[in-house]
Amino acid sequence: MPPKIGLFGGTFDPVHKGHLSIAHSYLDSDFVDKLWVLLTPYPPHKQLSQASYEIRLKMLNAAFEGVNRVSVSTIENSLPKPSYSVQTIRHLKQEHPDTEFFYCMGEDSLSKFHTWKYYREILEECELLVAKRPGVTHDEVEEVILDHSYFVEHTPLDISSSEIRGRVSAGESIEDLVPDKVLEIIEKEQLYS
Ligand code: ATP
Repeated sequence: MPPKIGLFGGTFDPVHKGHLSIAHSYLDSDFVDKLWVLLTPYPPHKQLSQASYEIRLKMLNAAFEGVNRVSVSTIENSLPKPSYSVQTIRHLKQEHPDTEFFYCMGEDSLSKFHTWKYYREILEECELLVAKRPGVTHDEVEEVILDHSYFVEHTPLDISSSEIRGRVSAGESIEDLVPDKVLEIIEKEQLYS
């Protein structure tokens, strides 16, 4: 059986408990053996991140340190920018020809997936693994996308990086939303204030 790897990309500005919980849900499904968390330096469909790439990487490593079967990958930093997922997937497939890749995303990303550049090409390269997210449905998602989507059981946590950034800038606590080590980095580096 070829190894099955889930690719979980994001800006992680900052990584939060919702990301950790979704990562566990992918791993608890039988679809993937391992998860590679891909830190995106320049997301094509979002505004530039607030925290630098290096600090986001530091937070990501701290959050996933010691979590079994998860690796943090910096591959997108060495590929041309912006970081189109199709490019990353093709590169990884070339480097690991015997591996079956799944592209993992939250349900909110699925409902916007048709706006991603080269989304049809992504579907030609791999299947999607989708975890539920509060307040989002996939009723409007194109048939061709749903044909390539697998859904994983997930008890969603209503947390987002934007909420965290907003709370910090309003001087509110984010203690429950991020792992302790990530909180330490946010405070030490005075991020998002
Ligand atoms: P922002 O609020 O800045 O848009 P975010 O919280 O969505 O950020 P990203 O780094 O953009 O975080 O997300 C990476 C991936 O994690 C995306 O596929 C997104 O759908 C998923 N994700 C983020 N938070 C959750 C959550 N609470 N539950 C399920 N999926 C999530």
